[in-house]
Amino acid sequence: MQIAFIGLGNMGGGMAANLVKAGHTVRAFDLAEAAIEHARESGCDTFGSAPEAVQGVEAVVSMLPNGRIVESVYTSDVIGRAPEPALLIDCSTIDVATAKRVEDAAKAARYDMVDAPVSGGIAAANAGTLTFMVGGSDTAFARAKPILDGMGKTVIHAGGAGAGQAAKICNNMLLGASMIATCETFRLAEKLGLDLQTFYDIASKASGQNWSMTSYCPVPGVGPQSPADNGYQGGFASALMLKDLKLAMEAAHDAGATVPMGELAEKLYERFTAAGNGTVDFSGIIRTL
Ligand code: NAD
Repeated sequence: MQIAFIGLGNMGGGMAANLVKAGHTVRAFDLAEAAIEHARESGCDTFGSAPEAVQGVEAVVSMLPNGRIVESVYTSDVIGRAPEPALLIDCSTIDVATAKRVEDAAKAARYDMVDAPVSGGIAAANAGTLTFMVGGSDTAFARAKPILDGMGKTVIHAGGAGAGQAAKICNNMLLGASMIATCETFRLAEKLGLDLQTFYDIASKASGQNWSMTSYCPVPGVGPQSPADNGYQGGFASALMLKDLKLAMEAAHDAGATVPMGELAEKLYERFTAAGNGTVDFSGIIRTL
């Protein structure tokens, strides 16, 4: 299949390379020359603009920084430029309202479109093991699934337009809050004189068990290998966690939902990144507790 790929950064670079490996012809575009060069080395055909990249394609995939850029790329460079039956797939993490607006504009121009944000970081993007949460019609999802299968291991239909973004930010709000709760719990356990490995052995088999502890323990040397064992480098940057918490707060405000734990997590990650820790893994917030 001929697929245009727009946004070849940390995530998009590996995803485009996996589409090539899956046998697709990938027509790639990014504003950054280094990203274009890397895509070329991965076997993509590269172009000098998005309108050129989308010529004659059957699908367009994008992995861009934020909603403002996604809206501008789709409304100026993709809708009306890509052939009309092309399927549009935005994998960026953006706000629900913008995702719905862009999908409405695509639908009005008779394109099928899905929002398909991912769970999993750069390593999963490179390895082709991402989880995709997909919002859009049944028809659009059925068309998107075989393409997404080439870049991930799990592809789930979350609901209609914007539902993928909604699922992503709800998941990450829970992750941010549960990480902070896990960090402060280990600090308290330490102050109460508990051996941390022993406490881990107990809590991971008791009702306090959660992913932030048993898959991503913020305490070095406890639990499986995690960024804590690597000086809190790699993994999921705190600036990206803050971005997702801000999107969650925006969505909660629009929906009239009460999210006190999410609000507190946003404040704490705001303070953590403002202190120069934006590139530190999000479990590194334990250092402030
Ligand atoms: P990145 O900054 O590395 O890549 C974004 C790319 O988009 C850059 O190469 C940039 O040059 C390009 N770009 C920006 N504006 C453009 C335009 N108008 N036209 C074409 N290209 C343009 O970011 P990333 O880490 O790859 O993240 C991309 C998206 O994935 C974000 O929405 C992020 O929230 C989401 N995400 C990232 C991770 C992660 O671990 N990095 C995990 C899950 C989701």
